Amino acid sequence: MAATRTAIVTGSTSGIGLAIAEAFAAEGCNVVINSFSDTPSDRAIADRIASEHKVAAAYTQADMSKAAECRALVARAAERFGSVDVLVNNAGIQHVAPVEEFPVEKWDAIIAINLTSAFHTIAAAIPLMKKAGGGRIINIASAHGLVASAYKSAYVSAKHGIMGLTKTVALEVARDKITCNAICPGYVLTPLVEAQIPDQMKAHKMDRDTVVREVMLERQPTKEFVSVEQIAATAVFLASPAAAQINGTHISVDGGWTAQ
Ligand code: NAD
Repeated sequence: MAATRTAIVTGSTSGIGLAIAEAFAAEGCNVVINSFSDTPSDRAIADRIASEHKVAAAYTQADMSKAAECRALVARAAERFGSVDVLVNNAGIQHVAPVEEFPVEKWDAIIAINLTSAFHTIAAAIPLMKKAGGGRIINIASAHGLVASAYKSAYVSAKHGIMGLTKTVALEVARDKITCNAICPGYVLTPLVEAQIPDQMKAHKMDRDTVVREVMLERQPTKEFVSVEQIAATAVFLASPAAAQINGTHISVDGGWTAQ
């Protein structure tokens, strides 16, 4: 591997992906920040991370629902930095509806972004990792990669799918010093989740703490959100030498949700 590692994090302008990119930058890695948009504020994220952590950071626009753009994201990172040492497949979206009413275009988008994009980025990254003598692939799955919730058919299917992809890829690259693992977060306090709290308070006529404990974290035994920093630290661990023999598995960071 190159002396300075390069980490790509898909969907990293917000939430978990942004925290993961920051954590790899704090480790001294070059980082590739990605989203589907291309605005000055997207590029400003990469500039801020570069200056705060004294690393190279590039913003690369690529829509993870499009095969060619997924593969081009990896190719552009390799062109810019010479290697791709860590690939974090994080981009994801959600839609909630009963299966018989689930909009077909939402199903297709969720499967494309939450599952198929990882197939494309992994396929593009493996030859580069083999050439470099190793690498780490980390897929951000979910507690919903292990258990289901009603009305989330596409999300649960995509997240179960990425668990299968994780195991299969791990077997294929085990002799190449490449590992492929998943992280399964429970409910994480991202801006997206935070924004839902006022509406839930209104709908349930509850205060913030009660909504969080009784409604949002109903299945999370700790009754506390997971933090983005806890997910990011798990990703950094999976990319560390200590995790070299962890392969084809997952780490749940869910406050005990899937122990039930
Ligand atoms: P978020 O909405 O805050 O961030 C998602 C990121 O993906 C954003 O940067 C967004 O721009 C990007 N993105 C969306 N569509 C894209 C596309 N077509 N192409 C490229 N980028 C795209 O969400 P988050 O909560 O940080 O979730 C990140 C990942 O963690 C997702 O895979 C999600 O399923 C998973 N996850 C989240 C939670 C949670 O409670 N927040 C729990 C378990 C798993």
